[in-house]
Amino acid sequence: MPISLSLNNIPNPSNIPNTENLDKEWDVIIIGGGPAGYSAALYCGRYRLKTLVITKDIGGTLNEADIIDDYPGLENIKGPEMGKLFKKHAEKYGAKTLLETVARIEKLPDGNFKIITVLGKEFISKVVIIATGSQRRKLGVPGENLRGVSYCAECDASFFKDKIVGVVGGGNSALHDAQVIAQYAREVYIIHRRDEFRADPIEVEEAKNNPKIKFLLNKVVKEIKGTEKVEEIILQDTKTGEISSMKLDGLFVAIGLVPLSEIVKGLNVNMDESGHIVVDQCGKTNVVGLLGAGDVTIQICNLRQVVTSAAQGAVASFSAFMYIKTKKW
Ligand code: NAP
Repeated sequence: MPISLSLNNIPNPSNIPNTENLDKEWDVIIIGGGPAGYSAALYCGRYRLKTLVITKDIGGTLNEADIIDDYPGLENIKGPEMGKLFKKHAEKYGAKTLLETVARIEKLPDGNFKIITVLGKEFISKVVIIATGSQRRKLGVPGENLRGVSYCAECDASFFKDKIVGVVGGGNSALHDAQVIAQYAREVYIIHRRDEFRADPIEVEEAKNNPKIKFLLNKVVKEIKGTEKVEEIILQDTKTGEISSMKLDGLFVAIGLVPLSEIVKGLNVNMDESGHIVVDQCGKTNVVGLLGAGDVTIQICNLRQVVTSAAQGAVASFSAFMYIKTKKW
């Protein structure tokens, strides 16, 4: 059973456009092609800033979303389709895209940034907007690397037709993933370490109303067992300490997100204890010329939605415009 992980750092070589045609110097380089990145690119383009988006994929975590129905005006849109629309809209205002992964960012003595990609391309930019997003957190238990463990329901749910599957987590991702998997699987067990949910009430309600979805509450996964692929999990009750086991065919892990901020660590950027980049209300970091937007940054209200990421991208692009215009940070 092939399990594909959508968060792949290595771009497909056939997707890499010929960079010979891309200029070396830019006003703004945006790293990340999700809602925050492409919204920033759209606004930068409208501010007539020469803008390049460097991203390993189009849409970022939108590619893991089946249907998005909470972005105003775009009802029931598929995540990947939304990513393409964002890119197309940014291109209308001149933003270019390079499908690649950034290896390093350096701050130059003149205040500009040098951006070096994994394939060795180098670019110079007055401003960098980090919109690299986040990826799913790992459980960190024995057996997690077995075939049948997945972090992306949209990518892998169809492999579990008529199977018994677990989903770990109690947030919006887990509850939503359970619905996606239930379209294929025979039974879906939401395994959550508490008996209250972090997910929105509507997600919990919908899961409770789905006859295929069942709840295993106050339980944590201690181990995943199997010879070649997942066959069984070992659970521990968080209230009684009791150990139990359960046979299943697959396990989806949806226990939160880890910000993809590694790339700016060398720039002495302020981050919180979990690695989110600290930005002010205008998207500015403590490093002059470096802005952040979307899931990679701290969120004052902890609302991580497509619409909030897109808004932060727009705000960051305004800060980029003002900085380039006034030279003030
Ligand atoms: P989340 O909201 O942080 O929830 C993570 C869940 O995993 C929590 O229930 C947490 O339990 C549990 N957990 C964390 N570490 C664990 C561990 N080691 N073992 C077992 N359980 C663990 O993360 P998320 O669901 O990925 O969502 C991330 C953000 O994206 C949120 O802001 C969410 O609202 C947003 N999102 C929105 C939508 C939507 O609006 N449609 C869809 C998906 C995600 P505790 O509750 O006990 O801490």
